[in-house]
Amino acid sequence: MLTKAPRGTKDVIPSDVYKWTFVEDMFREICEKFGYREIRTPAFEHTELFKRGVGETTDIVQKEMYTFTDNGGREITLKPEGTAPVVRAFIENKLYADAQPTKLFYNTPCFRYERPQAGRFRAFHQFGVEVFGAVNPSVDAEVISIAMTFFKKLGLKNLELKINSIGCPECRKKYNEALREFLNEKLEKLCKTCEDRYERNPMRIIDCKKEECQKELTGVPLILDYICQDCEDHFEKLQKYLGLMGLEYEIDPRIVRGLDYYNRTAFEIISREIGSQATVCGGGRYDGLVEEIGGPSTPGVGFGLGIERLLLTLENNNIEIPRPKGIDVFIVTMGNRANEKAVEISQRLRENMVSVDIDHLSRSMKAQFKYSNKVNSLYTVVIGDNELDNNVVSLKNMETSTQEEITLDSVIDEIVNRIK
Ligand code: ATP
Ligand code: MG
Repeated sequence: MLTKAPRGTKDVIPSDVYKWTFVEDMFREICEKFGYREIRTPAFEHTELFKRGVGETTDIVQKEMYTFTDNGGREITLKPEGTAPVVRAFIENKLYADAQPTKLFYNTPCFRYERPQAGRFRAFHQFGVEVFGAVNPSVDAEVISIAMTFFKKLGLKNLELKINSIGCPECRKKYNEALREFLNEKLEKLCKTCEDRYERNPMRIIDCKKEECQKELTGVPLILDYICQDCEDHFEKLQKYLGLMGLEYEIDPRIVRGLDYYNRTAFEIISREIGSQATVCGGGRYDGLVEEIGGPSTPGVGFGLGIERLLLTLENNNIEIPRPKGIDVFIVTMGNRANEKAVEISQRLRENMVSVDIDHLSRSMKAQFKYSNKVNSLYTVVIGDNELDNNVVSLKNMETSTQEEITLDSVIDEIVNRIK
């Protein structure tokens, strides 16, 4: 127990962490280019927020939440997703009072009690963006474009962008009727959850992962045939904008984000290489959500992008993330006096933003050289008693293997200049 992490969780150890910082830095840079600003919200929220914000008919709320009562008797849930907390923060901090739209991005841990498998964890991470205060489909296109630009910049080419419109509550009324009529005689064959969805939100049945339910859906009415003129115009314009941006897409009428306050645009970005957990990014419009949570009526649109799934996709596409460079300087020492000098020099170099390491294990000079190689240092400084007596150190350029002597007094300036 003590030396085994809980099921569905994993460590990112130092030899892998460069992959994370690389995609994190790139995501941040791209979002900032698009004019988005970072928001950070707590790791847990009141359970009620997710029940409302994600929806009672979703797998997340019905089966996947890490919920507990805290010592003060509050019902608390670890963030299963990023949108509801950002909506809460948007309202609580009155971000709607600033110039609109509010364009936000985040990088957050998420927690869901799911069956772990490749690309599916219990503790995972999401990048996301949310835009509040704009109904224009140009912002839907912009949100999609952030994800696509990010993937492209990472070198991922064969991803499929699938889009759909799920209409508005008005279109949905007609559609739900047609859907209930179609599903009426198939009801006993559906799973328990879908039976419940039939009453509360039949569109979610289309999204059910169970084979028994999918089997019953041949010929199911599709929302695109039921959307109103306004929703159709919105969808047409979205496609126009995507075209202008040079983004290829496919219309998939089965993509649903089926809550009453989700509307119009729904999209997924899919990688064929990672098997059944193929959706790397999913998002859409949620014009009713801010009001549902208790804020002023405000349109919204956004996406969530699984970081573990992204890294898996990169791996499956043989895309290598550049390894970080080694340290600037390793100081090899021989003897006590030299060691003390190394402590002094390393501190002064570090204060000048040069990365330096020294021997902490009283290793032989040979072993220290070997270590200097291993940590990929640009320079190795050698200090021995002899050198100290002559007021010099030797400086070895590890790339060219050339070695020279420089005076002890100039060693800091010399190295700082070269590293610059
Ligand atoms: P799925 O259909 O795979 O269960 P979802 O519809 O539950 O996905 P969203 O809630 O839209 O997923 O989350 C956005 C993204 O977060 C997903 O596209 C995926 O990349 C990632 N994600 C979701 N659940 C997990 C998980 N358990 N482990 C790792 N990544 C996940
Ligand atoms: Mg899921």
